Amino acid sequence: MKIFTTVALVLLIFAMQPFPAGAVPPERPKLAAAAAAGEDLLELDTSSVSAFSRELRKHYAISLKDNNSYLSGIGGKKMMDEISLCLSLFSPEFIKKMVDYYSKEHSSFFTLEIVKPSNSYYAYVEWGTNIKICLAYNSNNERNGVKASVLAHELGHMVHFISEDYMRKARIKLDLMEINGKFNYVGDKYRRDWNEYRHGTTFVRSYSLYSHYEDVATIFEELVGDPESMQERLNDPLNASLRKKVEYIRDMTYNCISDECSALFAPLEEDDSAYWKIESLPKAS
Ligand SMILES: [Zn+2]
Repeated sequence: MKIFTTVALVLLIFAMQPFPAGAVPPERPKLAAAAAAGEDLLELDTSSVSAFSRELRKHYAISLKDNNSYLSGIGGKKMMDEISLCLSLFSPEFIKKMVDYYSKEHSSFFTLEIVKPSNSYYAYVEWGTNIKICLAYNSNNERNGVKASVLAHELGHMVHFISEDYMRKARIKLDLMEINGKFNYVGDKYRRDWNEYRHGTTFVRSYSLYSHYEDVATIFEELVGDPESMQERLNDPLNASLRKKVEYIRDMTYNCISDECSALFAPLEEDDSAYWKIESLPKAS
């Protein structure tokens, strides 16, 4: 199994676009996504690091490692809330299936680790004897620290790798390239080659052009990070290729792992102007 090398395969997220200084980040459409998916999303207890760690293990079979106690510092609670939101959209059943898969098929133990702040990455996956998703701590996480979308990106890589185990490895890449049509993956040239007008119909952002791995991961990132905008894009006929690709990734995910993550793919639902406004409707008293 090639991905299980002792050398860490570092999957970085570059070129994320933080909120402009002073801007208020949008509310997470958590309740709307849950309502759309017809299910209650699990909220972990983030009132203390020990409670959070206990619940992560209990509901998701994930071990938390925070040796430098970053989560007890400034912005720690917000980070825990973001982690909780991301995992809830995947669902406990789905995450546990991924953790079980690595445990049974590769004898790998799964950990979520909070690591020191970095200027060059937000998160990465280390594939060694065990699997670690490392999230870089940033006290100013309103702008560019651990967000639900950052974790979703790395979980997207895990979904992709498990799917490659189930399907002929080259198949996924070839299928995606067929959907992409005239656009090729360009590696390091992704920033230079990106043209919003042309590529935006098929890819979620410039980094998606880097490789088929980043193409898949950035889609997971956007599904969690900005589902409202994703829904608008996916329902615009101009973006038919992007929609086809997200549908392909949904089917791959459902077939290779589990369909217990419908909240994640809620943005594929038909556009309905009231759909994302459920949260803001006045409550009956
Ligand atoms: Zn990546």
